Amino acid sequence: MNIGFDYTRSVGPVLGRFVNGLAAHRIEGVRGSDGRVHVPPVEYDPLTAEALTEFVEVGTEGTVKSWTWMAEPLDGQPLSRPFAWALIQLDGADTAMLHAVDVPGPEHMSTGMRVAVRWADETVGHIRDIAYFRPVRTDTADAGPTADPPPVAEREEGDPVGVVITPVHLKYRHSASPEESRYLRALAKGKLIGQRCPVCHKVYLPPRGACPTDGVPTTDEVELPDTGIITTFCVVNVPFLGQRIKPPYVTAYVLIDGADIAFLHLILGCDAADVRMGMRVRASWRPREEWTTSLENIAHFEPTGEPDAPYESFAHHL
Ligand SMILES: [Zn+2]
Repeated sequence: MNIGFDYTRSVGPVLGRFVNGLAAHRIEGVRGSDGRVHVPPVEYDPLTAEALTEFVEVGTEGTVKSWTWMAEPLDGQPLSRPFAWALIQLDGADTAMLHAVDVPGPEHMSTGMRVAVRWADETVGHIRDIAYFRPVRTDTADAGPTADPPPVAEREEGDPVGVVITPVHLKYRHSASPEESRYLRALAKGKLIGQRCPVCHKVYLPPRGACPTDGVPTTDEVELPDTGIITTFCVVNVPFLGQRIKPPYVTAYVLIDGADIAFLHLILGCDAADVRMGMRVRASWRPREEWTTSLENIAHFEPTGEPDAPYESFAHHL
């Protein structure tokens, strides 16, 4: 499961100046009320909370103040080979910044060592314009091309960077319970499998393994149809990054016939303005060769054209 979005942030005058400087291979910090130079620049003085405006260009070499070894780099980190995370105090700065140092192994790292910026092959106005640092004295050849630049926000040609984009992604590995596993395997065959509570007779879809009301195992398996009704819904009018369907469109709670729990799904096949509570819908399955163990096998639900279900029939499922 991959949950992700591109985090966009307007940078303002201080960080804006910093990232635009990076694009031009220049590192600028800001001087605080006590005379110390902060790199990266801080927008407000840490002591007086006054807005800071005195920018100071600092060197592209610096000293490692402390470090730790990243033996198994993760996706999205500055280097895909093992590297050091280090706090680096650039020449002319009074604070240290966190960045990566490219060395062949931890035996090449030491506190107090001198390092220099390796600029990204393509700079765009982002902290990743500093691809990583390298030791100033090294006999190791440069490792070649740097990683692709991050995505950039659209702007007029020649305008400074005003927004930075940072993709944020969480990859989940979920261990399915035995009940979920049967449910997911059934989905791969185009079937919806729920479970019924032996006490209250409610049918749970997806099955939970136990009834949350009665606390008893739900062992009674029920195959359900792929038709149901819309209980509640939301018309999506707001565009957002990564949106796959052009607004307006409808996401709705669909209560499958025979089930007692509604789930969220997409409604297509009619005008968003025509969607109603109680509207009868049917699953629109993706082509069979695309089926996996996922509810995404159902591309969306669409109206069947049957008469709406009366409100009383689903009022207690809202
Ligand atoms: Zn129950």
